[in-house]
Amino acid sequence: MLDYHLHLWPHGPRPLEATLEQVAAYCQAAQAQGVDEIALTEHLFRFRQADHLLGGWWAGEGDGTLASAMGQWWASEQGGDLDQYVEVALAAKEAGLPVVVGLEVDHYPGRMHDVAELLAGYPFDVLLGSVHWIGPWGFDNFGVGAFVAEWGARTIDAVWDDYTTRLEELADSGACDVLAHPDLCKISGRRPEVPDEFHDRMAEAAARSGMAAEVSSAGWRKPVGEAYPSPELLARFHRAGVPVTTASDAHGVELVAERRGDVAALLAGAGYRELAAYRGRRLRPVPIGPAGPGS
Ligand SMILES: [Zn+2]
Ligand SMILES: [Zn+2]
Repeated sequence: MLDYHLHLWPHGPRPLEATLEQVAAYCQAAQAQGVDEIALTEHLFRFRQADHLLGGWWAGEGDGTLASAMGQWWASEQGGDLDQYVEVALAAKEAGLPVVVGLEVDHYPGRMHDVAELLAGYPFDVLLGSVHWIGPWGFDNFGVGAFVAEWGARTIDAVWDDYTTRLEELADSGACDVLAHPDLCKISGRRPEVPDEFHDRMAEAAARSGMAAEVSSAGWRKPVGEAYPSPELLARFHRAGVPVTTASDAHGVELVAERRGDVAALLAGAGYRELAAYRGRRLRPVPIGPAGPGS
């Protein structure tokens, strides 16, 4: 098993400095759960290099209330140094810890070329691509009142359509390797009566871009109470030949490798026997392997 989606820091204002000891603790927690390799995938937006390049992207994105909420929230997340984070991750890898160097990268409409240029300056093993924002609306962020209220102002079909369009753009940009939490638009628990069209578009976007899709236990911690992706979408990924990674999306060491046994059961149900590991942004298939003790 792999845990290819891990954050070193919880959300919110705090010192953001990576340490070798913390990475070692994540590796130890993973290995204790039967997970052979982890990827550190901190949010790109937490680093000052991203703030310099992309800060203010929400301006002119329509709704003033949402844009102002996004601006405040973005400011509250700042403080990391991408060089320092990468140096520590590389040092951990060179010390023989079972870790690869990654990031979780958001979709910045029309800016993915700039993002790719920034990231090309670093020796990343794997880049996750995520859609957390529809314009200035952070739809998965239930900690911001304006974002929560926005759910009441849109139809669920419009939310899924807008989300899927951004996912397609992100995949087609070629900037990332793995679609993180591919059906995040279901997070609130509301879904279109017939989500098939959206599932088809998500699977096609992954297949034509050559990206892998992530199977994440994080959805079980959210109102939807279900892993990402749903079994129906995972079956489509499998039919389309889309490789998969496994992930907890932990924002602290206590959730590393969470519910890896349930994730393994989903993969088996869909017919997957291999996972996608990455080195230098090149896919390396590995067997799923046993889920480990106490799964
Ligand atoms: Zn995410
Ligand atoms: Zn994440």
